[in-house]
Amino acid sequence: MKAIAELWKLLEEIPDPEIPVISVIELGIIRALRYEGHSLVITITPTYSGCPAMLAISMDIHNLLKENGVTDFKIETVYTPAWTTDWMSLEAKEKLRKYGIAPPNEQVKHKLNSLTGDHDEEVNCPHCGASNTSLTSQFGSTACKSLYKCNECLEPFDYFKCI
Ligand SMILES: [Zn+2]
Repeated sequence: MKAIAELWKLLEEIPDPEIPVISVIELGIIRALRYEGHSLVITITPTYSGCPAMLAISMDIHNLLKENGVTDFKIETVYTPAWTTDWMSLEAKEKLRKYGIAPPNEQVKHKLNSLTGDHDEEVNCPHCGASNTSLTSQFGSTACKSLYKCNECLEPFDYFKCI
């Protein structure tokens, strides 16, 4: 049986299928690891509901554990408490920005939740840092992201939505 700490390290190798610079642990998807007798239980919480990435992540966990000789395990999916972008580490948000995706911004979340729909100016461009950006589409490359355009450097970019 591998130590829990060793398993955390191992699982850190699994990238998010959509954002390869961030691991599923940094994203906060893997919530807990524990042994029930000799059986390893991995608790995961899906990010955006219906995100097809979750299937890929489960497969990756399966394959990685098997490759490392861990055969007695199960993956348990827990929906409460629901995943929020707050679970994403600060390092992960910084990696997102460097990757060209504007990280989730709490201020935008509050604006989006209001009925005004006036939230464009809150998202900073991940390329040049300008706050002069505008929403192009509610849905970017995936449902988890919105598509923005920077009015300063004119680069389009994805904004990772808050939930
Ligand atoms: Zn820009």
